[in-house]
Amino acid sequence: MNYHMELIDTHCHLYAPEFAEDIDNIIQRARFAGVVRFYLPAIDMESEKDMLDLEKRYPDICFAMQGLHPSSVKADIKDALKHVEESLSQKKFAAVGEIGLDFYWDRSFEKEQYRAFHQQIEWALHFDLPIVIHSRDSIEQTISVVRKHQNGKLRGIFHCFNEGEHQADEIVSLGFYLGIGGTLTYKNSKLPGVIKNIGMENIVLETDAPYLPPVPFRGKRNESSYIVYVAEKMAEIKEISPDEVARITTANALKIFS
Ligand SMILES: [Zn+2]
Repeated sequence: MNYHMELIDTHCHLYAPEFAEDIDNIIQRARFAGVVRFYLPAIDMESEKDMLDLEKRYPDICFAMQGLHPSSVKADIKDALKHVEESLSQKKFAAVGEIGLDFYWDRSFEKEQYRAFHQQIEWALHFDLPIVIHSRDSIEQTISVVRKHQNGKLRGIFHCFNEGEHQADEIVSLGFYLGIGGTLTYKNSKLPGVIKNIGMENIVLETDAPYLPPVPFRGKRNESSYIVYVAEKMAEIKEISPDEVARITTANALKIFS
């Protein structure tokens, strides 16, 4: 890959404990690989301080989001949501995220997950912020919630998109972007066939580090510099150069988060 290429990691948990020992090296390696910005999705109040500390340490390249992750939604979400709302009114965040529905791990708080998702979308609209969506075993339900709120102003990313052509088309028709990461490189993945028919103007790149590393790093800790493997695979699928992939996806990311 050439060194003039600029990439944006639209979704990475670089504040996770997995990076506590070597975060400066991780950032440096990623910058050398061409990554110019890192967007940090929030999970919950417990992990928030580490996220904000990292943003302070790298104020021009790391950008924090605010939100309550669906897997952190429990029986009582009043305090957690109140905190999200207060933070959004007090400080500038890159997005409301990650928010959404996750029916894979646990369905016991389904009702609360819906409530938190709806509420946080309303705040995103109120504060004029994009949303970053997490959806697992819930893509149709998630799309339908987004559709309900789409008044022409709602914008954002379906992070770690790994669904079929029909869902990809629905997301695009809602004006949303597909966040594509390491799963694109997995053997037997159906995602390349889906992505082939989606316009580059609706795609952004991400790593979801430390999770979901691309081939050839499966089973290891993922990091932002590995995003070049996703960009290369994307270039191969779309039959364009990696430079072109970088140029378009970076412009898309800047547009979403501006
Ligand atoms: Zn995430």
